[in-house]
Amino acid sequence: MNLKLAIQKKGRLQEDSMKLLKESGLDFELGGREQLMINVKNFPLEIYLLRNSDIPQYLEDGVVDIAILGDNTIAEAVVDVQKIKPLHFGQCKLCLAIPKETPYTDIQFFQHKTIATSYPNTLKKFLKENNIEAKIHEINGSVELSIKMGLANAICDLVSTGSTLLSNGLKEVSCVLKSEVGLFAKQHLEAQQVDTLNALLFRMNSVLNAKQNKYILMNVPNDKIDQILRILPGMKSPTVLPLADATWSSVHTVIQKDNFWDIIQQLKLAGAEGILVIPIEQMIL
Ligand code: AMP
Repeated sequence: MNLKLAIQKKGRLQEDSMKLLKESGLDFELGGREQLMINVKNFPLEIYLLRNSDIPQYLEDGVVDIAILGDNTIAEAVVDVQKIKPLHFGQCKLCLAIPKETPYTDIQFFQHKTIATSYPNTLKKFLKENNIEAKIHEINGSVELSIKMGLANAICDLVSTGSTLLSNGLKEVSCVLKSEVGLFAKQHLEAQQVDTLNALLFRMNSVLNAKQNKYILMNVPNDKIDQILRILPGMKSPTVLPLADATWSSVHTVIQKDNFWDIIQQLKLAGAEGILVIPIEQMIL
């Protein structure tokens, strides 16, 4: 039985979703723009290309089994589905924003104000949690313009770089929800579907782990090896190989991308030379 996966038909998440599936070794071809379903040739998976906002309901109803989607879309749809894992792309925040020149001290600013948003459910929940009574003006698209048009005093919209807010003379004053893309599943998967999902997860994890890490090699004078090894976190223990010059060794290990520059700097100061950094394609733990 094939597992049915929903991804965005068009929009900003589609390219990265397709890329992750391809990097996970799935062999498929994207046909014309009207194509709605893709059969994966080498894995029991069917990919459904659907409208972003339709996916949560299809998932809850079991029309599809799993989906790649932003946390924000799932939160807004208020559906009963399970999050399987974060996929580390599509990061954004749902923010409250007001005109740049308007003074702001705290969340009480929003008491009895009108807020325009395409995320009424998420905003309603946030306002309730903060005991704010405000009017929500639901609007689809061009939310930033609603203040200029006199429809609202504030907006609640998705922000990633903040440049759209800035170019519309707005400033972010409060974060309602932090979001990134995740892999979601319907509540009740059959045993065979769980097996297929686990096989897919195994591949995705290997791609995601690889992206979070880098392989480094460096030359180290033998009398500095202990000091260098104390700096390196490594997957297990770093590899130390002798060089043709018997007073030097080559040290290899894997380090996390997050504190990468810090570690490189410490290695250099401790006497490492000729440091090479290599991207990892797959990393199976
Ligand atoms: P789209 O269909 O192209 O509007 O994609 C919308 C999805 O992309 C949202 O539901 C978010 O999960 C994600 N996203 C990431 N950054 C942003 C952003 N700055 N604005 C809108 N959506 C974003």
